[in-house]
Amino acid sequence: MPNLPAPTADGTEGASAHEALIQFLYKAPIGLLQTREDGEVLLVNPMAAQLLMPLAPGGDLSNLFDVLQALAPELRALPLAPAPGDGVLCDGLQLALPATGTSGQASPRTLSLHLLKMGDGTLMASLSDVTLAVQQEHQRLATQIRDVSRTDALTTLPNRAVVLERIDRALVGAAAEPGGHLAVLFINADRFNWVNVTHGHAAGDQLLRQLASRLNGVVRASDSVGRADDGGHTAARLSGDEFVVLLDGLRRTADVHRVAQRLLDALSQPYDLDGHQVHVGISMGVVLLAQATGDADSVLEDAGLAMREAKRAGGGRYEVFEPRMKESAARRGSLEAELRTAIAERQLFVVYQPIINQHSGHCDGFEALVRWRHPVRGVVPPMEFIPIAEESGLIRELGTFVLNEACQQHMAWQAGAGRGALVVMSVNLSRAQLADPLLVQQVSHALQASGMPAAQLQLEVTESLAAQDEQAQARLHELKALGLMLALDDFGTGYSSLACLHLLPVDVVKVDRSFVSQVEQSAHHKVLIEATVRVAQSLGMRTVAEGIETPGQSAMLAQLQCDKGQGYFYGRPMTVDDATAWLVQRMAAAANTTEG
Ligand code: C2E
Ligand code: CA
Ligand code: CA
Repeated sequence: MPNLPAPTADGTEGASAHEALIQFLYKAPIGLLQTREDGEVLLVNPMAAQLLMPLAPGGDLSNLFDVLQALAPELRALPLAPAPGDGVLCDGLQLALPATGTSGQASPRTLSLHLLKMGDGTLMASLSDVTLAVQQEHQRLATQIRDVSRTDALTTLPNRAVVLERIDRALVGAAAEPGGHLAVLFINADRFNWVNVTHGHAAGDQLLRQLASRLNGVVRASDSVGRADDGGHTAARLSGDEFVVLLDGLRRTADVHRVAQRLLDALSQPYDLDGHQVHVGISMGVVLLAQATGDADSVLEDAGLAMREAKRAGGGRYEVFEPRMKESAARRGSLEAELRTAIAERQLFVVYQPIINQHSGHCDGFEALVRWRHPVRGVVPPMEFIPIAEESGLIRELGTFVLNEACQQHMAWQAGAGRGALVVMSVNLSRAQLADPLLVQQVSHALQASGMPAAQLQLEVTESLAAQDEQAQARLHELKALGLMLALDDFGTGYSSLACLHLLPVDVVKVDRSFVSQVEQSAHHKVLIEATVRVAQSLGMRTVAEGIETPGQSAMLAQLQCDKGQGYFYGRPMTVDDATAWLVQRMAAAANTTEG
């Protein structure tokens, strides 16, 4: 058979142009044949032989037209007709090979044939397997799609799929070689939503892109952090403002803390969004894979839990995951579900703590404090369920309930004790309530429904809340416009100081219990209270000392000219019935003293 002669091993010896051509034809990944006009094969390269063999059951490849007779009988006539100027007789004729199954070729294949009439009257044929070409194209496309499906379009960082894959791989590696140091850092901006709302979504996108590029910068710089050679650090975006950094192959877990802090520092620098300087706090949760249990999904979940723990602690920090976080998250989850029914089933109730006027010694009114009578746990304190109510959006309903109860109770006592006997009912507002656009409407509705004069309602907000941002300030002014009083709760525990007091639209300052409890022992605390009272007085504000527990504290606060006092020394928070009895007894005692 006129096969090509096999090329010489090194191809240099006696290398003529002809030999070079033979070399080329031999290796070409495409089938090439030279035939006479009648199809008799003069030369055939290995690829052509391989492609045509399934069509020549006897193995006879001596005539191309014979071999292709069944598929393309028209070929035979082509060389006999006058050839076109360029000599091309057929240009990519598709030959569909039947799936035989017997020759080991299961799926149907397609060959593409080019036929060229040469000057010397011979024919050059080229054959290629387009099935293969198509498959390769599909492969290429699939890879491309895979890349797209693994990349976050906005930031071009790898996405969740990549993160899960990498964690999975590291988990397998860690099982084989315990102590594999992969750390997962779950990163979230503290005020991303706020940026979206106040600066628009385009600015939000810009922020995410800048965040991504800072992440990349720090992660690349971290290559020098005690890293074993096989590891690779990755920054990825999960969704929204959730990012993940994988620190792989760390030699010391202590390095994680360094990188986490470096990330916090870098990401907390102000962002320039179209000329606006925007500060964004960052919360981060860290999972060390050496301590992880479960699969990649649960590792990410744990990291997310630790991140939310960091957020709950005020944000702008990182927390390393601990199993107890899972328990408290589960507890919060079940409390949330129960809180929903608690409101509907009236398990919530309000207790009242008297506020005593230091000048007259009379009870000026009460502070309303919410309680939850849980069917199994007993009475749950507000610090355990207010944050849950805030996170779950139940706070509006809870706040409305307390407000309405307190206003109505105030009017009931007013009716019993005589108009003017009680001059204040104080109700606490939480952070989420102050952010609620419906708050003002809610408050004025509670006043109207109960018939309570606005001037007798006092709303308490904490220092950090009041100073927080323009939106909160605007809300406070709207509330004040209703004619009610605002009190600054827990004063002294927040960040702002006496110097900022004049900026806040409040009527009353409540000195925190932590100062009052020290007033007898610590000159420092005494001076602080004294200064607070002075500054408040100069601004026309009144002061209330919280948490007075002893006669000594009571006397000291009166001496410091604090206007009012609250605490176990005068009365604990009481149920309606107990508070009513307390009031009646107190009024009777006061009447006796005046008579006597
Ligand atoms: P707060 O507004 O500072 O309330 C004073 C807290 O100190 C109350 O705790 C009260 O029972 C306690 N207390 C009062 N006098 C004394 C004392 O002499 N010694 C000691 N050791 N403690 C005293 P409570 O009722 O557990 O409330 C805790 C916090 O929960 C409140 O702090 C307030 O921030 C929040 N809260 C309570 N009720 C509500 C509510 O209806 N709505 C909102 N948003 N928050 C509430
Ligand atoms: Ca309070
Ligand atoms: Ca307080």
